[in-house]
Amino acid sequence: MPKHHPPREEPLATRTQGFTCPHCGERISMVLDLSAGFQRYIEDCEVCCNPIEIIYQAEEGVIVAFRAGIP
Ligand SMILES: [Zn+2]
Repeated sequence: MPKHHPPREEPLATRTQGFTCPHCGERISMVLDLSAGFQRYIEDCEVCCNPIEIIYQAEEGVIVAFRAGIP
């Protein structure tokens, strides 16, 4: 579904989610897009640089499920 952004400013539907890296055990955080619904992607850990599989589901601006694991 294509997104159209009007020229005026609107609050972004994002949320910072904190979790523990499954590789190094460090506490890290990532900004999630809550308007995206179900998301699944690979993001590198900012501490140990190993890939983390991020899976989450957002409904009406609320994260209802979140998982960070080893892909
Ligand atoms: Zn790590």
